[in-house]
Amino acid sequence: MFADLHLHTHFSDGTFSPEEIVVRASKIGHAALALTDHDTVEGCERMATACAAARIEFITGTELTAELNDIELHILAYFIDTQNQKFLQEIKRFQIVRQDRIREMAARLNAIGVPLNADDVFTLANCSAPGRPHVARALVKAGLCVSLDQAFERFLKKNRPAWVPKAKMSALEAVELVHQAGGLAVMAHPGLNKSDEIIPELVAAGLDGIECFHTKHSTATSEHYLEIADQHKLLVTGGSDCHGKSKGRPLIGTVKLPYTHVEKLKAARDAAARTAPAAS
Ligand code: AMP
Ligand code: FE
Ligand code: FE
Ligand code: ZN
Repeated sequence: MFADLHLHTHFSDGTFSPEEIVVRASKIGHAALALTDHDTVEGCERMATACAAARIEFITGTELTAELNDIELHILAYFIDTQNQKFLQEIKRFQIVRQDRIREMAARLNAIGVPLNADDVFTLANCSAPGRPHVARALVKAGLCVSLDQAFERFLKKNRPAWVPKAKMSALEAVELVHQAGGLAVMAHPGLNKSDEIIPELVAAGLDGIECFHTKHSTATSEHYLEIADQHKLLVTGGSDCHGKSKGRPLIGTVKLPYTHVEKLKAARDAAARTAPAAS
């Protein structure tokens, strides 16, 4: 039995619906899935329903954009209560940050003579957590770029003319936010960050786990982070980070996390719930 604990839908910058993801996961044979859309949990309800119908275990989740010591990192949140008001309020702030950033990116494009309308990006994105992939798709749709890669290369990559830095949540606050919503906090794709020096500080703040298995981790990278997990007594997670068809072939199926890790995650969640003060 295996799981995929890192998936995106059209509720953020993926292209699949929750139902489409579940159909594909079912064909692959996944026993458990987590939905980790960026800065939103809106897709969780539909994904839970689709998983129940397919007899797949569903874990609520999201992927928070955070920073520590000026280093950007992504924090995966698992088992969060998707009705937790503090959690919802805080991610709402970052959804607004994302929307303002789209307007600023469109203004910067307009300033260099690229006539992209922010409203066209919002219409195409049709979600509360829009990002650069949506701007790239809108540029291609408007015939202003030939491909998503070209859009990133010419305009959207860091330090290109339409790149706008994004306000991020403090990673230490993100860990606390996840915990108060009953969830576990996991450092996403550490191999892409190459900032192992921040791990001890995250662990001291209560980080629960680390994503050792990821589509972009080589076997050696996965083994390196398994050692780090062992050293810091962190839970081990893994997922494909599938964004649908937006980045070529769908990635779902490239990572098959052994189900024993899901059991360990659930045991840790239950242990945390027993020691937490009763919610008021
Ligand atoms: P944002 O959160 O708006 O900064 O956008 C980040 C998203 O853009 C992530 O899902 C990345 O995978 C995607 N992304 C970042 N750089 C590129 C690139 N050069 N080409 C395609 N997608 C990219
Ligand atoms: Fe993404
Ligand atoms: Fe990420
Ligand atoms: Zn992701």
